[in-house]
Amino acid sequence: MSKATDPDRILLVEDDERIRLEVLDALQAGGFVVSVAATLKEATDLVQNGFDLVLLDLGLPDGDGLDLCRSLRASGDDMPIILLTARDAPEQRVRGLDVGADDYVVKPFHMPELVARIRGLLRRSGSKTATGLLRADTLWLDPQARTVGRDDQRLDLKPREFDLLQFMMTNPGRAWTRDQLIERVWGKSFDGDARTVDLHIARLRSKIETDPSDPRYVETVWGVGYRFQDES
Ligand code: CA
Repeated sequence: MSKATDPDRILLVEDDERIRLEVLDALQAGGFVVSVAATLKEATDLVQNGFDLVLLDLGLPDGDGLDLCRSLRASGDDMPIILLTARDAPEQRVRGLDVGADDYVVKPFHMPELVARIRGLLRRSGSKTATGLLRADTLWLDPQARTVGRDDQRLDLKPREFDLLQFMMTNPGRAWTRDQLIERVWGKSFDGDARTVDLHIARLRSKIETDPSDPRYVETVWGVGYRFQDES
């Protein structure tokens, strides 16, 4: 499986430990390399190392995340910044965009949406991870064009089938439970059940596998769930 060799590096600034761990987990699963900061001071120190993108909480124990945003822009740094904002503070978002943030998400956010926003911003800033073609044997997936194919034949996937395949191809060789796939691909707010995952896997296999009854790419891991197999 060839994939971008140089993963994007993200600085996650968030003082709420629960949110921090949840986002960290989702980003790592998405193939990003993540550094974390829980205070404005830590963030200000760490950001000097250079990142491809910053996820910035505004209400930090020792100050306002907007100050970091403002000082980065004042020094001419144009690294993409996404604000993590509270639902009840719309004025924060306006101020954030005013001082140079690129985008914002509102808590509690839908993790797949956050990851999609990150990829969108990285794409616009010319990143490799977000634009890199994912390949396994003759199967390929283009995250940017949202197209999938086998050799030179294009395959027609529904949006959720595409998301599921992209997620699994980004994390080859790892077994996922149905609940984990629901959380990562559908999001926490999804109220369907494990059967939904099985149905989507079956449809995906019918499209990407040469022999869906003997899948070469999406393997069933008995007692666990599914795994994307990247070895020939
Ligand atoms: Ca906070």
